[in-house]
Amino acid sequence: DTIGDNFDRTVAAFGERDALVDRAAGRRWTYRELASEVDALALGLAGRGIGKGDRVGIWAPNRAEWTFLQYATAKIGAILVNINPAYRSHELEFVLNQAGIRLLVAAEKFKTSDYAAMIGEVRERCPRLEQVVLLGSDDWQALLDAGAEGDREQLRHLQAGLSADDPINIQYTSGTTGFPKGATLSHHNILNNGFFVGELCGYSEQDRVCIPVPFYHCFGMVMGNLACTSHGACMVIPAPAFDPLATLEAVAAERCTSLYGVPTMFIAELNHPDFGRFDLSSLRTGIMAGSPCPVEVMKQVIDRMGMREVSICYGMTETSPVSTQTRADDSVERRVSTVGRVGPHLEVKVVDPETGLTVPRGEPGELCTRGYSVMLGYWEQPDKTAEAIDAARWMHTGDLAIMDGDGYLNITGRIKDMVIRGGENLYPREIEEFLYTHPDIVDAQVVGVPDEKYGEELMAWIRLREGASPLTAEKLREFCTGKLAHYKIPRYVHVVEEFPMTVTGKVRKVEMREQAISLLG
Ligand code: ATP
Ligand code: MG
Repeated sequence: DTIGDNFDRTVAAFGERDALVDRAAGRRWTYRELASEVDALALGLAGRGIGKGDRVGIWAPNRAEWTFLQYATAKIGAILVNINPAYRSHELEFVLNQAGIRLLVAAEKFKTSDYAAMIGEVRERCPRLEQVVLLGSDDWQALLDAGAEGDREQLRHLQAGLSADDPINIQYTSGTTGFPKGATLSHHNILNNGFFVGELCGYSEQDRVCIPVPFYHCFGMVMGNLACTSHGACMVIPAPAFDPLATLEAVAAERCTSLYGVPTMFIAELNHPDFGRFDLSSLRTGIMAGSPCPVEVMKQVIDRMGMREVSICYGMTETSPVSTQTRADDSVERRVSTVGRVGPHLEVKVVDPETGLTVPRGEPGELCTRGYSVMLGYWEQPDKTAEAIDAARWMHTGDLAIMDGDGYLNITGRIKDMVIRGGENLYPREIEEFLYTHPDIVDAQVVGVPDEKYGEELMAWIRLREGASPLTAEKLREFCTGKLAHYKIPRYVHVVEEFPMTVTGKVRKVEMREQAISLLG
């Protein structure tokens, strides 16, 4: 199936059911109403000369029009390029040129981002950018109006000319470890992924999924939008950008059955002073993913939010994204402490990064994935693609994992984050999990810092509960003594209000390491 054909099938089956709710705009659409926006936009774009293979950029926080454009571009075979809403003009210029964007749809402004002004700054240096349409402008309305009068037969003809293996989307990675890379994905890649993620969550037209994660990232547009539209479920946008209060309000007001988030989002919701005010009893399931999901946080999501069937997904932009997922019938122990098993029609293996040979179960190595989900490649970066995907089409993830005898995986960290102290390989994840058990610690991240004697030493970055008494390195070491091996006990402690983050809500350990080095002088 192409994304457009799959969407049409859902509209035919569930036309009168809710498809989309945009809380900030105070608007909602049934599938039939959503389809008419999507088709008008698709024809409007076609009328402006946009067709198969042309790159169309979207630069906006979450809002309904983002979704319209996602499906409209898919229907005419244009390649949607997701641009990080936190970018500034320099990064925008890079993406516009790297992806060769012909038409850019952008929000005019959001918070401190004046998108229109930044586009103005770089436009001269982006010769391939022909058209810019600002959301909510007269021009945007004109585009929709022209399309609404267009010929649906023409759209059917355009759709029929597409193949599921065509590239349909360029998604940039989060940029957690360096400069973001543009993964080129096909209908086949992301539609299947969205479908199977939704299948394992048990979605049907009865579900209402609260999506506070950004659409510009695969968590929002694939695990969110495509999982919903391929099962007839409703997408609920709580706010343009993550806001814990707006998210809790949306779940309660819309009776959401499922809630998404990276761990830091769930932590913010659970610790919100107004948490107890909301009736979250409609929640059945949800997904935590994107970075290591602390066991303590998972337990609270089940116990205090009532998300009994919540899953953990593991994946990466390059694999559309999900490779492994826990399932509702897994034991609670496995559902809080592993990233589950490999998804349908996919393969995973754990290899020794040096030799490439599969390691025995229970031993750590680099996780590799293969199957329908592996991207076509990094956009116009064949060298980078060849480094990541080998000749047998295995994607080398750069993540360290351990597979148990039943195929359940634990992600022990990124190869790049592993700390080598005095010849000992240390996995920050394990130490972070332990620190979470401290009653005053809300969030903990451990990084390696250079050390003359040991090569590297550990520094724990800590966020404390409000009103907690100050935490010194000594006190923390005391807490760890006798429970963690001495070489795993962080030498330094740095208490902060916030961690350096990506827009996708991931902790930027690279930046923490840089800051740590300058802190230690
Ligand atoms: P970049 O590749 O630009 O440095 P990134 O790897 O964070 O950024 P994404 O594709 O958004 O970009 O994220 C994929 C990565 O997120 C995985 O490689 C893995 O390290 C991490 N990750 C995703 N899900 C999980 C999970 N459930 N547990 C642990 N880590 C996870
Ligand atoms: Mg990555």
